[in-house]
Amino acid sequence: MIPAATPIVLHAARLLQVDTGTLVQPGEILVEGDRIRAAGTSVDHSLGARIIDLGDATLLPGLIDAHVHLFLHPGAEDLQTVEESVPWRTILAEQAAKADLLAGFTAERDMGTEGAGSADSAVRNAINQGLILGPRLRVSGNAIDILGGHEDAIHFNPAQHILSNADYANSIEQLIAVMRAQHKEGSDFAKIYETGPDRLIDGELHTPYQYTEAQLAAAVEEAHRLGTGVAVHAMGEPGTLYAVQAGVASIDHATQLSDETMRLMREKQIPAVPTFAIFEYFAEHAPSPAVAARERALLDYKIREFKRQIAAGIPFAVGSDVGPFPHGAQARELELMVRYGMKPLAVLQADLIQGAKLLGWEGQIGQLKPGYLADVIAVPGNPLEDISAVERVSFVMKGGVIVRQ
Ligand SMILES: [Zn+2]
Repeated sequence: MIPAATPIVLHAARLLQVDTGTLVQPGEILVEGDRIRAAGTSVDHSLGARIIDLGDATLLPGLIDAHVHLFLHPGAEDLQTVEESVPWRTILAEQAAKADLLAGFTAERDMGTEGAGSADSAVRNAINQGLILGPRLRVSGNAIDILGGHEDAIHFNPAQHILSNADYANSIEQLIAVMRAQHKEGSDFAKIYETGPDRLIDGELHTPYQYTEAQLAAAVEEAHRLGTGVAVHAMGEPGTLYAVQAGVASIDHATQLSDETMRLMREKQIPAVPTFAIFEYFAEHAPSPAVAARERALLDYKIREFKRQIAAGIPFAVGSDVGPFPHGAQARELELMVRYGMKPLAVLQADLIQGAKLLGWEGQIGQLKPGYLADVIAVPGNPLEDISAVERVSFVMKGGVIVRQ
């Protein structure tokens, strides 16, 4: 998987300049090695370049999913971590990474292996070495949670000693020790469970917090020492407030945010990652009508709050929580963010510009500009008119290598 020796010119009816929202017509990109050399209405064809005409399509930067689980697949979400071995789950993760890439996701943040420890760093390294196909990855290893917390295995016979899907940390000292152990095993950032379990009572979300602001601040300080950040699973107050006060990198799920939390998110430019796709999937694939009604009520609540969050002007990134639903299907998230209130361009900017920043690749990915990595996709038609075009990706290039055409 080495880029071609000869330059490549990609030609299509349109090219989106993501930052300005300008649709260049037609659009061309000159790719040399793993980088974009030029992009615009026309580029230099004189270097003996191979010219690829993608027709009535729009050239976009490769999509970014800021919340994935390569080590989860549809089915019994909790039991798969009990019943399936880590080697087996790693083989499935390789397939998941390939499916995501072929769907146009050229960069992803893996938000926890859910019991597979640091196996995600092996997948990342194998992708980076060109041994297997997959997106550029930022990985966390296991997520971190308190004893008896949201991600612990609490409904089993205690005599069976069923393992948690996350690494335990019950104090500042333990948080730091776990983060150092994960760092040693290859993690790029830390994922911490800050809230849960979630309940709707009289139409209001209630979700206990797991860590205090001081504990999260210590985790953030340790992450900064390592040159990285902390992402939190945070559904609602007061955990979401504690997390933004502590200076986390993102608030994932972000279903309930107080005015003060949103003010701090604007001030500190901390994005919310709504993950609508997983909520929709759970509502539509519930095991019973009662569970379906509960999941639907939570999604409706989330949609109402999302409209408040858009009005408040907080930053967003795009993450789907794919894994419990099929890998490769997660571009649905962009369509849902549009359906529930954002403009298509705003969603693409959240995905590509905020996403690149959140994954630590600002200036490298997320735009079609000279010097950027040649992560390029083509989608049919015009995604600014019909965002669902991102669910029908027809061409994928990652780092100058064509992986789908
Ligand atoms: Zn998740």
